[in-house]
Amino acid sequence: MARVRVESLRKEYDVGTVVAVDDLNLEIEDGEFVTVVGPSGCGKTTTLRMLAGLEEPTSGRIEIGDEDVTDVHAKNRDVAMVFQNYALYPHKTVFENMAFGLRMSTDLDADERERRVVETAEMMDIETLLEDKPDELSGGQKQRVALGRAIVREPDLFLFDEPLSNLDAKLRTTMRAEIQRLQDELGITAVYVTHDQHEAMTMGDRIVILNDGELQQQGAPTDVYENPTNKFVGGFIGSPSMNFIDVTVDQVSDGLQLTDTDSDFSFTLSAAYATANDAALGMDRYTLGIRPENVEIARGQPSNTISAGVDVVEPVGSDNFLHLDVGPEFIARVPSDVDLEAGETVSITFDESDIHLFDIETGAEILGRDPESQPATAP
Ligand code: ATP
Repeated sequence: MARVRVESLRKEYDVGTVVAVDDLNLEIEDGEFVTVVGPSGCGKTTTLRMLAGLEEPTSGRIEIGDEDVTDVHAKNRDVAMVFQNYALYPHKTVFENMAFGLRMSTDLDADERERRVVETAEMMDIETLLEDKPDELSGGQKQRVALGRAIVREPDLFLFDEPLSNLDAKLRTTMRAEIQRLQDELGITAVYVTHDQHEAMTMGDRIVILNDGELQQQGAPTDVYENPTNKFVGGFIGSPSMNFIDVTVDQVSDGLQLTDTDSDFSFTLSAAYATANDAALGMDRYTLGIRPENVEIARGQPSNTISAGVDVVEPVGSDNFLHLDVGPEFIARVPSDVDLEAGETVSITFDESDIHLFDIETGAEILGRDPESQPATAP
């Protein structure tokens, strides 16, 4: 396995009118599993294809191990890629599919190739399928073969391009766990692209978030969830998404009052909070962010309650998601035994230590949750 270093990587298309990847810097440790996530078109696949050598960077540098591979052809990089559509050879058996890459990329003799293929097939639980052709396999089995074909080569770096997107939800969960088990056992260095933030959060040692070709944030999943660097990350990571409302700040006798001019929303930050965060609280307007699990039904609190109409009650088993009309839509995650119906009006509240305040213009986070407060429950 190998570490990977990406320096100032840029990819333009259409004579510079499309910047797919803009000044990307990444360092991936040996044995680290990094997930890359972001909305459609943010540059995930382009980044992966440049790491694989399938796409030539406009500028920048890629190192795998200690080697500068920026100008090295894909076939000469010790990299294995696993695709969403499996990319198996339809006329070859599972054994031949797995052995083919080994034959092309190593000088192992036939006995050694067979030993490695059988060993990997056993590890992937596909040893009974070795004589089958891909069209005899289910989607899950095909993806196991595609993974096995990558693993058998023992490459320096694994690249995964949305490998589980074609599988049903249950199989996706199984395969996620399987890939994590393999990563633990084999200590593989991997870059895993997905548009599914839940997948990115649960699988990655580190999560890299892109938007519009630009790196937004990278870090351990819980850190990114707890401390989003900007409104985009706050909204993208976490499901349901963080609630946002634009507020105006007014000094009042007992603290700072946050109000929304378009709705009845009003929330007062205590004098203690305002004093403790004095250095950060100099602006007239902010975007307030609060996660659904931090919004509560108010039970007898005298202040800081916000009246909201219940639009939809969405049961998800252990919890209910309440879609609330606060001005903008707010979602609250409440226990499933909270008995409410669409059309009712409720009072909601939240703790000031749980709010995030973002610059209303740039989206940059100005104040995060108080790290001393209870950790948020990451999805
Ligand atoms: P998705 O999740 O939809 O696959 P992505 O994050 O992987 O999206 P990319 O496929 O890397 O995004 O594309 C990034 C940007 O570059 C997009 O605006 C896309 O339209 C553009 N792009 C990608 N490939 C080309 C190409 N060959 N020619 C022109 N533009 C391209």
